[in-house]
Amino acid sequence: MPPIVIVGSGLGGYTLAKELRKLAPDVPLHIVTRDDGAFYSKPMLSNALAKGKTPQTLATASAEQMAVQLHATIWPHTEVTAIDVAARTVTARGEIVPYDKLVLAVGAQPIHPPLAGDAAAAVCSVNDLTDYAHLRENIEQARHVAVIGPGLIGCEFANDLVLAGKAVTIIGPAAEPLDRLLPPEAGRVLREALAAAGVKWRLGVSVQGVDRHDNALVLRLSDGTTIVADAVLSAVGLRPNLDLARKAGIATRRGIVVDRYLEASTPGVFALGDCAEVEGLVLPFVMPIMQAARALAKTLSGMRTAVSYPAMPVVVKTPAHAVVVAPPSPGGEGHWEVTVTEQGARAVYRDGQGRLLGFALTGAAVAEKQSLTKELPPWLD
Ligand SMILES: Cc1cc2nc3c(=O)[nH]c(=O)nc-3n(C[C@H](O)[C@H](O)[C@H](O)COP(=O)(O)OP(=O)(O)OC[C@H]3O[C@@H](n4cnc5c(N)ncnc54)[C@H](O)[C@@H]3O)c2cc1C
Repeated sequence: MPPIVIVGSGLGGYTLAKELRKLAPDVPLHIVTRDDGAFYSKPMLSNALAKGKTPQTLATASAEQMAVQLHATIWPHTEVTAIDVAARTVTARGEIVPYDKLVLAVGAQPIHPPLAGDAAAAVCSVNDLTDYAHLRENIEQARHVAVIGPGLIGCEFANDLVLAGKAVTIIGPAAEPLDRLLPPEAGRVLREALAAAGVKWRLGVSVQGVDRHDNALVLRLSDGTTIVADAVLSAVGLRPNLDLARKAGIATRRGIVVDRYLEASTPGVFALGDCAEVEGLVLPFVMPIMQAARALAKTLSGMRTAVSYPAMPVVVKTPAHAVVVAPPSPGGEGHWEVTVTEQGARAVYRDGQGRLLGFALTGAAVAEKQSLTKELPPWLD
């Protein structure tokens, strides 16, 4: 029988493979991945500089070790360039590889802001171990690092960079950090805590260009001012990798469109992780991957199982000030009720009947995470 082929060796691909092995120890499994196939926990990338972690210490198992552990064939440094859904094959290393079931766990890639200037290419972003290695090289001699994007990843890196001894300025058009996740009052509390830790802010402006002057990078801002930095990190969001699916005629919208069984428009093809749009939801976080991997492993081993998403709060890794947020699900009509104290912000999002739909807790208020999570409705029942 042809193998189950998984494309991608991030948390999506490898978590699925681990779950599958618990249920189907002998089913042939072939993992093809563009990167080196090492296992690592991606969330650690934005907390690793201050701890002095290298790409080598972040990788806890090599592709060879994963192949033994998972009893799988793994092809690292190999791009899947085409899928033939009619013939049930993929093309990789110039070979035609047949599959019984195909799982796309191809992740997402950083969005690059359109920047003018002769040093736009010097702006880096971090979404995998290779990027992290580049970041470390870039900031090694840097005293001042500019971070474009005051969202979750930007704030985490900024906090990590100040802890690593760098001067940091975060730049972005929003009025407060994490504006897509937090009400402004809670964003302000986080901003002030990061400022107290040493982070400088330039909010309400965007970066238009980056030029090199001598050894420094000069960022041109939309209000006509400039910032001089030694390195620039962009963290303005991720875009699901859709090209491979699109070329094969598999339906995509914001992500690869899959149903509750993680099955794409083409039978026998599945998707999970940052590349997948499950019933309209693109949730680029670890918890949804765990849920999806467990359900899909059952389906692939013959027990067709729909994925369910409980409420899944996200912990923002800013040691300067704890933040946990459970954003209201899209379309959940309601309003924020916010209390700010010296210890932090407590924000609850309730509908017209007073039901809790989401929350954002900072500082001491994060102690309420568990009790509030129990009150939240599931994202997918
Ligand atoms: C800095 C950072 C911090 C984060 N922190 C948190 C956090 O604290 N909590 C949380 O819940 N989430 C966090 N996230 C999000 C979380 O890490 C991701 O949702 C998750 O790791 C995505 O896993 P994935 O397997 O879907 O994608 P990826 O890890 O991107 O894996 C995609 C894989 O597909 C391969 N690939 C792509 N195209 C091809 C192709 N054509 N052929 C072969 N291989 C291909 C790639 O090589 C890679 O192996 C963070 C993300 C980042 C970037």
